[in-house]
Amino acid sequence: MSVEKNIAEIKKKMEEAKQRSRYHQDVKLIAVTKTVEHEKMIQAYRAGILDFGENRVQEIQKKYELFPKEIRWHLIGTLQTNKVKYIIDKVHMIHSLDRDSLAKEIDKRARERSKSMDCLVQVNISQEGSKHGQTKEEALDFVEHICRFYPNIRIRGLMGMAPFEEDSEKTRCYFTDMKQLFEEAKTLNLGNSEMSHLSIGMTNDYEIAIEEGSTIVRVGTGIFGRRNY
Ligand SMILES: *Cc1c(COP(=O)(O)O)cnc(C)c1O
Repeated sequence: MSVEKNIAEIKKKMEEAKQRSRYHQDVKLIAVTKTVEHEKMIQAYRAGILDFGENRVQEIQKKYELFPKEIRWHLIGTLQTNKVKYIIDKVHMIHSLDRDSLAKEIDKRARERSKSMDCLVQVNISQEGSKHGQTKEEALDFVEHICRFYPNIRIRGLMGMAPFEEDSEKTRCYFTDMKQLFEEAKTLNLGNSEMSHLSIGMTNDYEIAIEEGSTIVRVGTGIFGRRNY
């Protein structure tokens, strides 16, 4: 299957999932391009994709130079504090804000450039496996803390990853939990931040995530095929 056909197929399935969802939300597709070679990324761009997700700072730095400036780069993986300075001018949104030290650094680097950085707070919804992300219990306090103390960060929502399940239906409970947390977060006093995005759903489970209220899905394998590490 070609990249173009894969994208068309995924967009169709996204549309169908939206019809089944009771939230009538808009959903954005981010093409996850980690390890993906230039040629395939160009194919995705030609098929209309303007949002690329990467998990490594080095790859963003390299690819940023090679692609048109209209591309929006999303940092979706663990971000080391000492690397924030390399991407602060390049990324559209950081999906993996998961700790105070990182928030502090993002705020500092954004302030130096007189900008505000859009971020999502990463929540560890499965509470196991991956160590990254705020716990469900602490996530809302963390959101409020950032909004109070880091004026150059604009929180735009939450991000989460369900554990991989052979039977993707089993991921649904994680997404309903995230949706509930997201709705609670909207009721907080957030200053200049706003809770507009719920970034949940990957190749294996994006349809279920959309049914449960996702507004951003991050799809890699489904578009580009298996990754070669
Ligand atoms: C790799 C990755 C994805 C995409 O995973 P696929 O299963 O290939 O769609 C999405 N989100 C994050 C955070 C990732 O690291």
